[in-house]
Amino acid sequence: MDPTTIATTTTAVLTTKRSNRSCRLVLLPYPLQGHINPMLQLANILYSKGFSITILHTHYNSPNPVNHPNFNFVPIPGVAEEKYPVSSIDNLISLMRYLNDKCMGAVEDCLERMALEDEGVACLVTDAQWFATQSIADRLKFPRIVNWTSNVSTFLTFAAVPLLRDMGYVRKFTDQEKRSDALVSGVELLKVRDLSSFLTSDPKGASELMELLVLGVKPAQAIIWNTVKELEELELPKLSHDFPSSHFLIGPLHKYFPPLSSSLLTQDQTCISWLDKQAPNSVLYVSFGSLAGVEESQFQEIAWGLANSKQPFLWVVRPGSIQGSEWLESLLDGYLEKIVEGKGYIVKWAPQQEVLAHFAIGGFLTHNGWNSTLESICEGVPMICSPRFGDQLTIARYVTDVWKIGVELKNGLERVEIEGAIKRLMADPEGLEIRARVNNLKEKVNNCLKKGGSSYSSLEDLVNYILSFKGGIK
Ligand code: UDP
Repeated sequence: MDPTTIATTTTAVLTTKRSNRSCRLVLLPYPLQGHINPMLQLANILYSKGFSITILHTHYNSPNPVNHPNFNFVPIPGVAEEKYPVSSIDNLISLMRYLNDKCMGAVEDCLERMALEDEGVACLVTDAQWFATQSIADRLKFPRIVNWTSNVSTFLTFAAVPLLRDMGYVRKFTDQEKRSDALVSGVELLKVRDLSSFLTSDPKGASELMELLVLGVKPAQAIIWNTVKELEELELPKLSHDFPSSHFLIGPLHKYFPPLSSSLLTQDQTCISWLDKQAPNSVLYVSFGSLAGVEESQFQEIAWGLANSKQPFLWVVRPGSIQGSEWLESLLDGYLEKIVEGKGYIVKWAPQQEVLAHFAIGGFLTHNGWNSTLESICEGVPMICSPRFGDQLTIARYVTDVWKIGVELKNGLERVEIEGAIKRLMADPEGLEIRARVNNLKEKVNNCLKKGGSSYSSLEDLVNYILSFKGGIK
């Protein structure tokens, strides 16, 4: 569907300027679900503003061009042809190293070729995880804008890694530290117990990459943020002080248009008909996103925590996300019968935006990936936070301690605590207060896209900023 048609049906009023179509932007998404979604959302927004869009992409986790007929797709030749197994955080670290090392020659060749074409290249927009592309942009004299797909506090926490190293925190943690509520001095909000997961099972590898990410963002001409000024008031003064580039906070990107078909897995629509039969605000939605996995024992704890809470639930269990299992085979006899009783519904992958917008959803047990968190806020769904690694720890802190729109599973995935958190959120008076706060935030965030709202204005500024590049190299 042409975004110019869609625009009239959304809260965001977008004006199409056909004259910009001669201005080509090359967008380079990072090939993981949580990065592809916001980049393609951004592509649609910029297309609706009249720009010509070329998506430069890996064969690995390639977006499907058929779903995006308005864009030109260019595969990076010879790169990550074989399926790269991303089943653990350590694989994520090696994927980032691989892409930023082995692919740079091919990326540069593609961009050089595009620069010689009639359209030229006005500007390169890359995901921040393509940190090595800045030197290519410099050599080819393209302006480079970074698309940071998480929030500002996450970025500032990544930027604090050298400080964490100086304080001796880049290491494995003792069991006592993993329970410590002490605040980490100099890093807003983070508790000592957050740090062990923030830096993952490979603290040295993770911290080095976080530093490279930040170093790759610093020299960019500008940063596009999939967030909203009103969510980031605490962090913005520090951001502009420490990183005086141009910042465009234009989120929530997914709210400009109806949900995009950028899912790498097939979304099981049957769960929507199941939700249609449930009472308003009664169902807990459970999903840990596209990457995070759980151990088999944790999976059992979630299963029994959900069952014991007696609350209806819709649970996404991604095949391969449980260590040592393909899918549900480790559930004990009798468990599935309990689900068949009508209390629960399990799918391999859900149409998450539609699910969160459904009247029946009353809470979200989440890993706090930024897309999931923002999608939840935009629909006024309170959260039970169980962050797994990296930025999820900072985001969960915001959800529970700053916005106060969720509760935390302090001791990890443990059935009694899960049952208790579900009751707190969905049955106790405390849950009503949390729901009121998230609904208040929902309204603020959605208002940002309306004429005169902060994201609306920031998008106008971004369009003018890109147009000032005047066509780039031809
Ligand atoms: N998602 C989905 N179906 C699911 C689970 C997730 O479409 O069953 C989408 C979700 O809407 C979000 C993205 O996948 O846009 C996950 O991104 P997020 O940043 O939350 O987490 P990540 O997968 O990067 O850890």
